[in-house]
Amino acid sequence: MNLVFMGIQGSGKGLQAELLAKRYGFEHFDLGSELRERVKKDTPFGRMVETYIKDGNLVPDEEIIAFINKKIDDNIKGLVLDGFPRTIAQAKFIVDKIPVKHIVYFSLDDQTATNRLASRRICSQCKTGYNLLVKPPKVPNVCDVCGGKVVIRHDDHAPAIKRRISKFHELTEPIIDFFKEGDKLITINAAQSPEMIHKELVGKLKLTS
Ligand code: AMP
Repeated sequence: MNLVFMGIQGSGKGLQAELLAKRYGFEHFDLGSELRERVKKDTPFGRMVETYIKDGNLVPDEEIIAFINKKIDDNIKGLVLDGFPRTIAQAKFIVDKIPVKHIVYFSLDDQTATNRLASRRICSQCKTGYNLLVKPPKVPNVCDVCGGKVVIRHDDHAPAIKRRISKFHELTEPIIDFFKEGDKLITINAAQSPEMIHKELVGKLKLTS
């Protein structure tokens, strides 16, 4: 089955996608990470993407849709899409392109999301995620896994966080209504611990535990 994971930044959908993929063999497609990789490569596409990411704005639909169109095979089965769609135009595109079994919405209030993002860190080398409040690296600023430098993401600074959250409400939240018809939408309480969220997710997707 193909799944779409949606939620405000900081809702933990990326971690949940990763856990689900590891446990049940889904392919995890994390659009934000894919875009950050392109930024590092310093191509015209990467430079264009960077101008949006650094300020916390969404990359324009036509660029993102063309990118996804090339990356996703129409016949794929067992994909977790994380970070796409984020606009109604993207949502319409994806339901035409692949069969989507469930849209999973990780519901979280703005204040908790903001606090989580402000304390989020990432290894600059292997991309392991940390959180200074609940999962700090054992040695400050050093990755437990590879010894790489643990850094803050460029768009996890206060002004960009504020803009990303406001863009979520303005452009992404309306997709939930778009998907409400039928029984495809699953809502998960993302204010819980990662373990509890995973449990609720597995139960609601009716996967065998
Ligand atoms: P994320 O890691 O998912 O928070 O994404 C980081 C940034 O990548 C976002 O703030 C946007 O600038 C860009 N981005 C990720 N997904 C999308 C999308 N579906 N549409 C447009 N821009 C996106």
